[in-house]
Amino acid sequence: MADALDLTPIDFDCLRCGAVSPMRFRGLCGDCREQVKEGLRRDAREIEVAEYVPKMNVTPNAVALKDD
Ligand SMILES: [Zn+2]
Repeated sequence: MADALDLTPIDFDCLRCGAVSPMRFRGLCGDCREQVKEGLRRDAREIEVAEYVPKMNVTPNAVALKDD
């Protein structure tokens, strides 16, 4: 039963591209993990810029609702 805790990587098919590669848990292969990481970094920067402008318009309404 102790063998169930063996963390040796097992061949799994990547959830993103389907490539079979050794992983400890079923998920993304190394390439996809890198791509997702880079994508998140890019998205975070875009969201920061995108949210900056709408907030200027949203704030007056949010304040008005609080005065209900
Ligand atoms: Zn992949």
